[in-house]
Amino acid sequence: MLEYIQTKEEREAFIDKYDNFLFDCDGVLWEGTNMFTGVPEAMNLLREKGKRVFFVTNNSTKSRSSFLKKFEGFGIKAELSEVFSSAFATAAYLKHVLNFPEDKKVYIVGMDGIKHELEAEGIRSCGGEEDSGITDNDPVPDDKEVGAVVIGLDTKVNYKKYSKAFAYLTRNPGCYFIVTNEDTTFPQHGDFYPGAGAIAAPIIAALGRRPDAVLGKPAQNMLEAIRAESHIDLKKTCMIGDRLDTDIEFGINGGVDTLCVLTGITTKEVLLSPENKVKSTYYIDAFEIEEKQPDM
Ligand code: PLP
Ligand code: CA
Repeated sequence: MLEYIQTKEEREAFIDKYDNFLFDCDGVLWEGTNMFTGVPEAMNLLREKGKRVFFVTNNSTKSRSSFLKKFEGFGIKAELSEVFSSAFATAAYLKHVLNFPEDKKVYIVGMDGIKHELEAEGIRSCGGEEDSGITDNDPVPDDKEVGAVVIGLDTKVNYKKYSKAFAYLTRNPGCYFIVTNEDTTFPQHGDFYPGAGAIAAPIIAALGRRPDAVLGKPAQNMLEAIRAESHIDLKKTCMIGDRLDTDIEFGINGGVDTLCVLTGITTKEVLLSPENKVKSTYYIDAFEIEEKQPDM
């Protein structure tokens, strides 16, 4: 059932089997600011073979266009229409699913990626990086215009932001509580740091309830957006990721095959352990599809 892809022939057979590849980013293409070896070449080869490629990241700190710059910086070819992020999914959800009213605004606990994606959908926001320096513990004034609180990874989170988020959610009737993604950790500096799930946890505890929506993987919003725009055949699609409870569950929930890459969060031990209930279709040590060329 869980197939180990090891040889060049197995890698080629794997690629031939699918028309569309959904790539998780962190842990598969790069770790933070360090790209893994051979990624641009692998992507070029997939495109030469006529494969469609999509990028699906839970990282809400950047906008889609900032991600595109990151791709360009690494020499990875990508189009805006191929990049999907939890911040983008959050903005799309507010706009198209909740029909977020024009006279309302969003309070953000998170970085500018969320603000920019909301702006792109014409949604007003406040908080976010603007509130990063606030240290006072004065009472939170009412702001009846706040109709949703969005929480994502915030490396400058503080008590004031939490107080505001909590105040709007408890005082403003019908205020939506949305979390971009619930990764408990993410890889950085060769180690693991608290993720968006850990940033949102205090508000979940204070409210005593779950968010109204969580948009990142394993939720299906990004897959639905890809299907709506690109009409891909799910039977010919494979999701490639490093994390079982986000990427691999995302693929399984969406009915696509999955490849777990052991370059990120998941170790071989965890993947193969009898306790692990999230089994990918395949696993591979690193997503290298060509033998490395000798240095010229
Ligand atoms: N980097 C940051 C800053 C994140 O917040 C997250 C997700 O929470 C990730 C990376 C993981 O992103 P990906 O889904 O591309 O692995
Ligand atoms: Ca990942």
